[in-house]
Amino acid sequence: MANGFGSDEPKATTPAEALLERRAAALDAAFGKADVPARLAGIVAQAAGPVVFTTSFGLEDQVLTHVIGTAKLPVTFATLDTGRLFPEVYALWQETEERYGIVIRPYYPRHDAVELHVRQNGINGFYASRDARKSCCDIRKVEPLGRALAGADIWLTGLRADQSAARGGVKLAEADAARGLVKASPLIDWTRERALAFAEENAVPLNPLHARGFVSIGCQPCTRAILPGEPERAGRWWWEDDAAKECGLHVGQDGNLARVKPASVEARA
Ligand code: SF4
Repeated sequence: MANGFGSDEPKATTPAEALLERRAAALDAAFGKADVPARLAGIVAQAAGPVVFTTSFGLEDQVLTHVIGTAKLPVTFATLDTGRLFPEVYALWQETEERYGIVIRPYYPRHDAVELHVRQNGINGFYASRDARKSCCDIRKVEPLGRALAGADIWLTGLRADQSAARGGVKLAEADAARGLVKASPLIDWTRERALAFAEENAVPLNPLHARGFVSIGCQPCTRAILPGEPERAGRWWWEDDAAKECGLHVGQDGNLARVKPASVEARA
């Protein structure tokens, strides 16, 4: 069945996956045309287990936090503290908890994995290669996310379809077979302007970095402000972007930002 968020072509290969896909399609059909408060309330009401909302305190996440917190929906708030966040994020984290009377559960990377990664790659080793960057993200984000979502039935995210081409195909609700849950993105069809207007109308606390050109805010060393007209996510891992590489970054023959290896991995291990 086609709907406003794309095709619902069956992809499931197991009964469990088929069930997740049917549930996601049903949420999509039931709440695709609803407003965001009704979407959230409806999705939460349909949950068969815990609903977890992962926030990184960006504009969209703050809008969802406002709606969930104001309606006092039974949702668990979670965030991934990578250890490399901007100071502004920590200030906003506390302000948000106080404003809405909520607790946002922190998930930290495994200290032994971070210690080994830094020993082998250097404290900023993620600039040296895509593999090192992905390894850092795996340790600081992906593994903790798995723990944050363990046992969840529905995962709420602040994704918008127009944030990037890669996100363009995301639907309101999707089956996440790997995690065994339904992933729902209630702002999927909102524009950034709409989210900004909502935040302003409702005095939603926002990261002050947004006003300084930081549109998509992740870890401090991997986020930069963007210029007018640049794609929203151009400020994330910009050194891996061909356009940015042409603007003066020191790129090695392998296509990666040239860095002097702090020492051989073997010597540091
Ligand atoms: S965004 Fe950068 S610092 Fe953060 S986990 Fe990924 S590579 Fe590491």
